[in-house]
Amino acid sequence: MSSTGNVEPMTFPERAAVIDAAAISHNVRTIGDFVRPAKVMAAVKADGYGHGLITAAEAALAGGAGWLGTAHISESLQLREAGIEAPLLAWLHTPESEFAAAIEAHIDLGSSGWELPLIAQAAGELHQPARVHLKLDTGLGRNGCTLADWPTVVGNAAEYQDQGLISIEGIFTHLAVADEPDRKETDEQLAAFRQALETAEAAGVVPDLRHAANTPAALSRPDAHFDMVRVGVGIYGQSPFADRTAESLGLQPAMELRSRVANVKKVPAGQGISYGLTHRVDAPTTLGLIPLGYADGVPRIAVGGPVLIRGQRYHSVGRVAMDQFVVDLGAETEVEVGDEVTLFGGDSGIEAAEWGTAAQTINYEIITRIGARVPREVINPPAAQQEQGDQ
Ligand SMILES: *Cc1c(COP(=O)(O)O)cnc(C)c1O
Repeated sequence: MSSTGNVEPMTFPERAAVIDAAAISHNVRTIGDFVRPAKVMAAVKADGYGHGLITAAEAALAGGAGWLGTAHISESLQLREAGIEAPLLAWLHTPESEFAAAIEAHIDLGSSGWELPLIAQAAGELHQPARVHLKLDTGLGRNGCTLADWPTVVGNAAEYQDQGLISIEGIFTHLAVADEPDRKETDEQLAAFRQALETAEAAGVVPDLRHAANTPAALSRPDAHFDMVRVGVGIYGQSPFADRTAESLGLQPAMELRSRVANVKKVPAGQGISYGLTHRVDAPTTLGLIPLGYADGVPRIAVGGPVLIRGQRYHSVGRVAMDQFVVDLGAETEVEVGDEVTLFGGDSGIEAAEWGTAAQTINYEIITRIGARVPREVINPPAAQQEQGDQ
């Protein structure tokens, strides 16, 4: 299904990340249909995975997301400043985090345990209970309290709740290997999570929102859905699985990275390309110059990164530089200076994951690191989707 009312930018830009808000809404709707009755929290951290925090948030809400999630309180505060009233959760803090500002702004706070006294103190001073989701480490070894500390953390939280300083809205954990659905560690993490929920229940802590699933678990592990899934990469139209395309999952890419060809020239056999001369052409050929480089988020180590020009795929050769990289167009080519070029997304058939493979990384890192020098051009924002729907 193509996105509704595809409004092209007025002029094809010199360089842009074109953000299709309707694709984000579509992807949220698709995942929401799949996980129902579980709710959807759209992860919009890291500037909406590079798509724009507010753009991503509004598009996700239009697609039916009930919640928005960010790593930092500061990110959630930006959402509130933009007038977004949806429930928000922020889960990664330091003692410097603005707990009081979060409580005042009705932002739910994830807590691994150590934050509880700080949160309770801020809540006491504000005379406003803080909304807390207790976070448990069931095996990722990152944030969240250990299984050993869980009874203590639950006990402390229950006490603060009795004192009216916090209300425990959720209990959550994060999965380590859900992108490899057959691995047994996910079973072990979910078993530990269920056990911890029982421990909490025995202590009288029974929150409405139990949540564990990221995008890969939302799509492959119904037993991880609980009351809500926290989905990021999938809502941007990216596959979380190494062996499945986004298209096969019914997801539409929300970011198209594109530019125009900046130079075209014939070169003889033996021509070296870019810093380090790591590549030399073995026959006469034509080189195309693409004005996007590692300052724009095209990884320096990428080799053979795909682009689409005039409906045909070409690949990068030589090192990506700060502002530009080179593609080999072959001996005979129609490609001209100024031609449109797409690195991934849109109708190109190239997924960001291919650039991930070319650069020994994953689609997550490709989309979140598109640089500030690349303007985001938003098409099909929710207001326009509405109008299209009304016609
Ligand atoms: C980023 C994040 C998510 C979303 O993960 P995806 O794999 O992008 O769906 C969910 N939960 C937590 C705690 C996260 O940090």
